[in-house]
Amino acid sequence: MFDRIEADDYEQVVFCHHRATGLRAIVAVHSTALGPALGGTRFYPYATEDDALEDVLRLSQGMTYKAALAGLDLGGGKAVILGDPNRDKTEALLRAFARYVDALGGRYITAEDVGTTQADMDLIRRETRWVTGVSQSLGGSGDPSVATAQGLYYGLKAVAMTLWGDTNLEGRHIAVSGVGKVGYAFVRQLVEDRCRVTVADVVPAAAERAMHDFGVEVVGVEKIHAVECDVFAPCALGGALSFQTIPELRCAAVCGCANNQLAEPGCDEALADAGILYAPDYCVNAGGIINISEELRGYSRERAENGLRHIYDATLAVFARAEAEGITTAAAADRQAEARIDAVGRLNLIRPPSR
Ligand code: NAD
Repeated sequence: MFDRIEADDYEQVVFCHHRATGLRAIVAVHSTALGPALGGTRFYPYATEDDALEDVLRLSQGMTYKAALAGLDLGGGKAVILGDPNRDKTEALLRAFARYVDALGGRYITAEDVGTTQADMDLIRRETRWVTGVSQSLGGSGDPSVATAQGLYYGLKAVAMTLWGDTNLEGRHIAVSGVGKVGYAFVRQLVEDRCRVTVADVVPAAAERAMHDFGVEVVGVEKIHAVECDVFAPCALGGALSFQTIPELRCAAVCGCANNQLAEPGCDEALADAGILYAPDYCVNAGGIINISEELRGYSRERAENGLRHIYDATLAVFARAEAEGITTAAAADRQAEARIDAVGRLNLIRPPSR
């Protein structure tokens, strides 16, 4: 266990067990170098305990990089509750989990993720203040998807500036795979900007809704990545960019909100070799965490919207670093995040922050 934890430098991994409620959860605090470790709680019926551990470790490390690149004073953490949310989720279990979160004294701050909802966060709030994504009536910021879509739009503008020397998107053709919460809001923005948009979704009703509401074209999910377009936007699940799909891409750039778009190591190089500009997923999909982080200071929509604009600059900085150092944009994003963690994290040696 320690070999695994030391390899990627995790600070703390907490196993939580509460017999009376049946709670089995793992909290991973990857890094608090930049601030408290924020990341959602995933409630999922993992096939094995090893799968659950690997998931929470991988996801918490991802949060460290995402928060660092987004310019936030936050570290990276994540929690998983082992079980089927439809069968095992009870008020008592969530509140038991919340007490473990509380016991971490703010080193870890939780939020919604797969299998947990805003109502769950409201319950957790009754036991601890170290939770975000609660209802607006409790000082929360509501559904983060709209903020994620807005941040993605700023990322796309950085792509346009880099490729075409202009942030104006009028007439550009964007192929969006997945028109769920984020994808739908993103398409709305694109249509307002007079883009041509093609969409696909495994749920036909979702694609039809986008077609009906915005007049966009619809293609099958197996075809969307191969549509001839300016930008392909993966907004469904992870793994959209693989050694199978990359040779079929007919776009100048990839810029979407889905997490973990690169299916395997080396896919970033394959994209670069194909001459496709890749906007790293965790750089352009940070709108949700930027929005939610504002809850920690007392939520202000205006401040959150200003924060979202940072994604434009962060994306340009990643592209510039990739160019200057002759590396892929995915590698540049990692280096950019690591450089900030190192430089700003070092300040903790002077004194701990008083926030
Ligand atoms: P969602 O579940 O609301 O939407 C996903 C959509 O993709 C659904 O309509 C689904 O039917 C569709 N889909 C699933 N598999 C597909 C496939 N193979 N091809 C085409 N469509 C498919 O989820 P969301 O909240 O919109 O999030 C979308 C992605 O963005 C996820 O990867 C998520 O992790 C990531 N993300 C979301 C947020 C947020 O604020 N919601 C923040 C950061 C990252």
